[in-house]
Amino acid sequence: MERPCLYIVIPCYNEEQVLPITSGMFLEKLNSLAGAGKISEDSRILFVNDGSKDGTWEVIRRLAEEDCHYIGISQSRNRGHQNAVLAGLMEAKDKCDITISIDCDGQDDINAMDEMTDAYLDGCQVVYGVRSRRDTDTFFKRFTAQGFYKLMNWMGAEVVYNHADYRLVSSRVLQELANFKEVNIFLRGMIPLVGFKSTSVYYERHERIAGKSHYPLRKMLSLAFDGITSLSVRPIRLITGLGLVIAVLSFIGVVWAVVSDLTGQTVAGWASTVCIVCLMGGIQLLCLGVIGEYIGKIYLETKARPRYIISERTWEETD
Ligand code: UDP
Ligand code: MG
Repeated sequence: MERPCLYIVIPCYNEEQVLPITSGMFLEKLNSLAGAGKISEDSRILFVNDGSKDGTWEVIRRLAEEDCHYIGISQSRNRGHQNAVLAGLMEAKDKCDITISIDCDGQDDINAMDEMTDAYLDGCQVVYGVRSRRDTDTFFKRFTAQGFYKLMNWMGAEVVYNHADYRLVSSRVLQELANFKEVNIFLRGMIPLVGFKSTSVYYERHERIAGKSHYPLRKMLSLAFDGITSLSVRPIRLITGLGLVIAVLSFIGVVWAVVSDLTGQTVAGWASTVCIVCLMGGIQLLCLGVIGEYIGKIYLETKARPRYIISERTWEETD
């Protein structure tokens, strides 16, 4: 088999402190893979600047001038990690045979790339990078992250346990992924939906080399909620189930009330009345909220706005 051309896709948001350190590591890895004959010489490292507010784009531009293996695109504004990765993958899909997406902060072990390319050469189209341990994360991060995967799967959004966005995807799969037109994107859940032969490789996650995480609990919860509501309708089913249970209970309550009344046992039950009104009010608002979330998503999907807008590239587009 001919040696595949690899594009390493790296989203960057306010990473001017980290990039100068990690870019060299990525280049070294690319060169060693090429040296070992696993990938072709025209492989590249593709940075996606996600509308950074600091000097990240200048760093990327400088890197591109220094070495032809570095290339970069810039989004017109900050659109978030998922959109940045998608922009990079779509940019790469017609230029290479395989892509590996990885964060730029050096947390994910780049040495897993050897195994990933090996798995591709063995015939896998998708290779998930899975964290074997989470020792370097704080207890809080570990705990919340675990809850995240449990919740996701329970709610019907299929995700690979402990797999973030470090994965190898072939251009064959990306061509199919391009047909998924949704604007609410959650790549971790979408790639398994595309299918094709896949496998996992295991690696240990390190601490961030510099800078700080952009995923506090608030963003993680919103990612989980987005993932669930973008991929699954189970919450709506749960609400239907809940409604059914409450309806049955209410019916029993009504029968009980009527029987009590007929047998002349009614007393002024102010407390119980208020409790029931409050409970019903709360449940109804909650259910409306979840349904509203889906309607909001439908609203965004019908607008079909572009999922990313590339404003600049480090190279000249010829066509
Ligand atoms: N990132 C991005 N856009 C954003 C936030 C983050 O492109 O709006 C990038 C960031 O530069 C990094 C990756 O996404 O390469 C993961 O972010 P981070 O390391 O902050 O998350 P964590 O590893 O803590 O979950
Ligand atoms: Mg990180």
